[in-house]
Amino acid sequence: MSFRKNLSNLFGWRTKRKIVVFESDDWGSIRTRSKLDYEEMLKKGLNLQTSHFNKFDSLESNSDLTSLFSVLSSYKDSTARNPVFTPMCLLANPNFEKIKSNDFKEYYYEPFTETCKKYPEHDMVHSLWLEGIKRRLFVPQLHGREHLNVARWMGALKNDDTGLKLGFNHGSIGATFFNNIKLPEHLAAFDPESPSDIEFYKDVILNAGVLFEEICGYKPQHFIASKSPEPKCMELPLSQIGVKYLTRYKVQKYPLGNGKFDWQFNWLGKRNKLGQIYLTRNSGFEPSDKSINNPVARCINEIDNAFKWEKPAIISTHRVNYIGFLDVNNRGNGLKFLSQLLKKIIEKWPQVEFMTSAELGDLISQEYGKKK
Ligand SMILES: [Zn+2]
Repeated sequence: MSFRKNLSNLFGWRTKRKIVVFESDDWGSIRTRSKLDYEEMLKKGLNLQTSHFNKFDSLESNSDLTSLFSVLSSYKDSTARNPVFTPMCLLANPNFEKIKSNDFKEYYYEPFTETCKKYPEHDMVHSLWLEGIKRRLFVPQLHGREHLNVARWMGALKNDDTGLKLGFNHGSIGATFFNNIKLPEHLAAFDPESPSDIEFYKDVILNAGVLFEEICGYKPQHFIASKSPEPKCMELPLSQIGVKYLTRYKVQKYPLGNGKFDWQFNWLGKRNKLGQIYLTRNSGFEPSDKSINNPVARCINEIDNAFKWEKPAIISTHRVNYIGFLDVNNRGNGLKFLSQLLKKIIEKWPQVEFMTSAELGDLISQEYGKKK
């Protein structure tokens, strides 16, 4: 295990309990609209094949969710409960039709439940989210309003950026190269170009809180920004919508705009002035990423290292690994490896407890309460 991995577990809150949390980013967001769109965009010059996200990731379908639930519900931990995912969710997507009909002058978004109506195998997705919450298999938290840097994306579209327009015409986001030339980065929702962007982000977060509660039936408690960190001053609007827990990097760069950054050293259980508690990920599980050999063994190693340091294992595992809407083999592969991973975890650590990230946050927060 590398020095960096050990360092990541050195500081902060500890427990002898064997706690495993799966944090899975990107649920609710669009990416590549369909297999046909993928092939056409590829023909027209977008270099999508180099990214497993562009190749396999799409708005989750009915069967993507039922297949994931079926794997999770076939295992139990030492508390006789199933493994649980904390999907980090987006609640909205751009409304392509409206943006186009207004000639790219204005940005419009729609709740993700409206996006589902435009997709062919997605009529049950919202009710499956609710079923996942009820069965404690899939308990959403917040990743943002949309997985999009609105100012940068709209700016590039207004300027007729050919590559991004091509993606737009196919109802897709996320392409990084067009004819081998880099496209403007547009997935980091809270990465300001200038300090004046930051004011707009506050509204986005407040809107996201309202949408989250409407769609999920409870306030978000936990947040991680899409793609790259948000400005530190967003902690206040986040606390106003209910967020008590924030996923942070150990060394986190907070953007200030104009290419400037503030940075901070963070650890599991660190509290900010608003009383919000930081959670830090220490493991990864990304079987769709073919550059990673043996994803199960690698993840088991990272969990083992976390437990050696008396830390919970907080595993980052993106939605893309479980999506079969574009390529059913991708989902089959991801779920096969997930199943192997769950089996190994339960065999190796029979006392394991699978938790949501908010449950872990609550546990840390209760212990702090006792110490007072
Ligand atoms: Zn994301």
